[in-house]
This record gives sequence, C-alpha cells and structure tokens, in this order.
Amino acid sequence: MAKKIKVLVWNEFRHEKYEESAKNMYPKGIHGTIRDFLSNETDFEVRTATLDDPQQGISEELLKDIDVLIYWGHNYHDEVRDEAVEIISKRIIHDGMGFIPLHSSHESKIFRKLMGTTCLLKWREANEKERLWLIEPGHPIANGIPEYIEIEHEETYGERFDIPTPDTLLFISWFDGGEVFRSGCCYIRGMGKIFYFRPGHEICGAYYIPEIQQVIKNAVRWAAPSNGPIPILGKARPFPRT
Ligand code: ZN
Repeated sequence: MAKKIKVLVWNEFRHEKYEESAKNMYPKGIHGTIRDFLSNETDFEVRTATLDDPQQGISEELLKDIDVLIYWGHNYHDEVRDEAVEIISKRIIHDGMGFIPLHSSHESKIFRKLMGTTCLLKWREANEKERLWLIEPGHPIANGIPEYIEIEHEETYGERFDIPTPDTLLFISWFDGGEVFRSGCCYIRGMGKIFYFRPGHEICGAYYIPEIQQVIKNAVRWAAPSNGPIPILGKARPFPRT
C-alpha cells in the first residue's frame, strides 16, 4: 500500500472555546471539522493540535513525522513562540513539509516570515457573498473543482493583500461589497510547497462546503513532499571529464 500523507491540522482554538457564535458554528473546533472531512480520505493520516496544547502543539519531535501542516490562527498570533515558528519554517524550507495557512493565518508569524512582507489586507465583517473564481483549471489543486465556488456569507477580504506575487495564483475572489482578493496562492520556499487559502471565518461555515473541502484535500496532496533528490550545497568538485 502506498505511504499515507501525514497531516497535522493546527488551530488556535480560542474562538470556538470562548465565543458562542463560533462554538455553535464549529462545535468540534475548526481543527475537528477539518480533521473529520480529511479523515474520509484513505491516503491521509490526520492529527490535530492546538495553541493551548503542551508546547503549543508544535515540537520538532512531532513535526518531523508530518508531511503537511494545515494552520488556522487569528487573534493570538503573537502568543505563538518564536521557537515554534523556527521549527515550522525549518521543516518547510529544509525538509519540504507542505504548509497550508488558512484564512486569518495570513497574519501569522510563520506566514509573514515565509513571505517577507506584512501580509496585511483590507477586511470587514459584513456577511457578504463571496465567489471564488478558479483561474488555473489545469493545476492539481483544481482537480474536481467547478469554475467558481460560492459562499453565501463570509468575511470580506480585499486588495491590496501585501504578499509577494504568488508563483501560481489559483483563485480570485469577488465579494458583493465590490472587493476582489487573491484567495488561493501557491509558493515554493526552499524545498517546501505553500498554499494560502482564504475562506474560513470562524462564524461562517465555509469548511462545511464540499468544494472548499475538496480544495483543501487537493492542496494536501499537492503540498506533500515530493521525495526529490536531497540538494548538495556548498563547495563542489567538478565532474570527472570523460
Ligand atoms: Zn475571519
């Protein structure tokens, strides 16, 4: 049997503990909901961790056994210790662990470190309709996804989104308040693949939408390490001449 992709779903998990509206929307926590739909896939092995776990749910020991990290954070980015950020960053850049930051994780320490920009954006909570247009239908993450995905009520994000130009831009969102936003952004950093995916406000139900779930499943498969050659870096001898 083919090796399973080991996924860790990390969540800040404060809104769903302390705020009624978020608790009602995601009684198992956002991480629990994502774990449940990913666990239906026979090629995934899924674990979860949260900010209030020992070591904030991030350690070298744990991550060395993880192929893809899905990450949801919002109000408590600053609490995440720098050591955890360093551990995640090394696993991505040196070892090729995939990284999928969701929604408000655009402002996480780790995403900002990987991007090198502020990653700030325009936003409002107005329950507007969002339409995510898929503009690269040939990309592996597009597998089985329709031309657009509609979310009836979401938090609005708008440009400018202060990120480096993505290696591949997969989705552009339109909101009925008038904004557009780069909602699905692929990057390679060192050995690692990164996919930022916008939907997922804690009191809106985006993670229950089958097409949104399918994008995240596809992204896990795309971001998993490639098992390519280990790079040889530094001073090198010439090839023997024939
Ligand atoms: Zn939000």
